[in-house]
Amino acid sequence: MTVRHRRELDTLPGYVQGKPAPVRDIPTYKLSSNENPYPPLPSVVDRIAELAQGINRYPTMNAPVLVEALATRHGVDTSQIVLGAGSVEVVSQAIHAMAGPGDEVVYAWRSFEAYPVLVTGAGATSVPVPLTADLRHDLPAMAAAVTDRTRLVIVCNPNNPTGTVTSREALETFLDAVPDDVVVVLDEAYREFDSDPDSPDGITVVARRPNVVVSRTFSKAYGLAGMRIGYGVASPEVADLLRKMAIPFAVSDLAQYAAVASLAALDELTDRVRVLVAERARIQDELGAQGWTLPRSQGNFVWLPAADDTQRTAAVLDRFGISGRVFPEGIRVSLGDRQANDTFIEACAAVIAEG
Ligand SMILES: *Cc1c(COP(=O)(O)O)cnc(C)c1O
Repeated sequence: MTVRHRRELDTLPGYVQGKPAPVRDIPTYKLSSNENPYPPLPSVVDRIAELAQGINRYPTMNAPVLVEALATRHGVDTSQIVLGAGSVEVVSQAIHAMAGPGDEVVYAWRSFEAYPVLVTGAGATSVPVPLTADLRHDLPAMAAAVTDRTRLVIVCNPNNPTGTVTSREALETFLDAVPDDVVVVLDEAYREFDSDPDSPDGITVVARRPNVVVSRTFSKAYGLAGMRIGYGVASPEVADLLRKMAIPFAVSDLAQYAAVASLAALDELTDRVRVLVAERARIQDELGAQGWTLPRSQGNFVWLPAADDTQRTAAVLDRFGISGRVFPEGIRVSLGDRQANDTFIEACAAVIAEG
């Protein structure tokens, strides 16, 4: 028997999780999900352990302590903060709040694999706009793709999986071209790793443009991927719409207070980000010296544009004990600890040597 269901689900590929590290008798590294290689801070783990005593109760619904902490951190009003079980839920709230059957959502491609899944899930239509030859968002083409049916545009900055960024100037020109009743989500999951001085800080853009939503996460820079906590910053009007689409009680108290404890330890976490950013520069330089041409990444990962050689490259990485995220046109490899990165650099040399 086939139950009556939405036909578009038959062809919808589900979200695929990054592969675990290969099983091998050498050290192996999972570099497939852009996770933070550092273990969680003791202060965060202690807080979670303490709150575990109360998990027979529902979480605090509007997370006032975390919302206040985020508003203070970003210099915005508490009415402008929305929360989600990961920022992927915030992006989902924005899609569901703005777009339904017959409506279009414009985003760059290749970009975050969750976008097509979420857009189809909302019953809306994806309008993917190819990246430029240098793997950036083609913002003029994205602006041209906006029609009467467009209800949302997503700009992933830095872009996952290519690591490329959109400049402040290019973004402003783009936002000027998009009608101001169309919501634009700036997905800034990797903002903390972005050291390009020309990159826009989306939160300053929100202050001037009420149709812009910024989404950020504790999963990447702050190492809370397993806790599922992300947030959005928007105008109070747009924030209200997103909150209506939030799944009730999706954000646990454990997640709320793990995030509060992380904000309290921001200096320490920022030091870790700095180390990872230095490792990114080291990897990019070493791979450049080996003869690779990589886009300059501003995320906690690098993009190997292996093209036709992708499968062979993935096999070499696997031999060295590394799982990256393999796409048809290249491989995204997350920054790991020093030893993981050294092994990755060695593996990339082997790819060249054997090619
Ligand atoms: C990882 C990622 C997210 C969200 O991660 P959460 O764990 O749901 O916060 C959102 N956008 C992009 C582009 C990502 O790569």
